[in-house]
Amino acid sequence: MHIQKVLGSDIAMCFDQCPPGDAPQDVQEVALARTTAWAARCRRAERAEGQALFGIVQGGIDTPRRLRHMAEITPLDFDGHALGGLAVGESVEDTYRVLDEVAHQLPADKPRYLMGVGTPTDLERGIVAGIDMFDCVMPTRNARNGYLFTSQGRVNIPNAQYRTDLGPIDPACPCSTCGTYSRAYLRHLYIAKEILYSRLATLHNLTFYARHVRALRDRILAEGQRA
Ligand SMILES: [Zn+2]
Repeated sequence: MHIQKVLGSDIAMCFDQCPPGDAPQDVQEVALARTTAWAARCRRAERAEGQALFGIVQGGIDTPRRLRHMAEITPLDFDGHALGGLAVGESVEDTYRVLDEVAHQLPADKPRYLMGVGTPTDLERGIVAGIDMFDCVMPTRNARNGYLFTSQGRVNIPNAQYRTDLGPIDPACPCSTCGTYSRAYLRHLYIAKEILYSRLATLHNLTFYARHVRALRDRILAEGQRA
């Protein structure tokens, strides 16, 4: 399947085993063998028409082990490939090192998906390393917990400093929450445990993430035109 077609499909992920970041060697090896065996079974299983299937590369923070697993997964001819088992408790430095050493070695003609990541900075690092897709609870869960991303840094809406703040969450944000409601009102909704807060805050954080990724895409396109 062409990349655009894959991204427009229902995507199914292979079953995999994701050990904790600090799991000992023997646990990692058992997880890898099981993940490879499950990948082969998933590949043979019947699928809905048009449904894409992605293989998952595990291997923790050990690059040779990651590459060995990649060599087991990629010949199975999936529609795309995911890196699993990152951002599961290892240091950020290790996450970025593995990304830099491994992501660009995944087949370039199929989407590359980094599972469960991450912060706006993580997304940027992933994209620079060659990743095409992400998924993460961070924008929505953080929104519900009072934690808002803005162009001027993070806003922790429960803080007392926002009690009488009549400005928007982010003056640079075009979302309907920022265009309509003040920080003081959103803080009031949050403190009152009013469910509307979650909805408005989620709208804002998702807008922030979408604009962040769009800006990165524009930079890539601009650099491509200069090249
Ligand atoms: Zn907004």
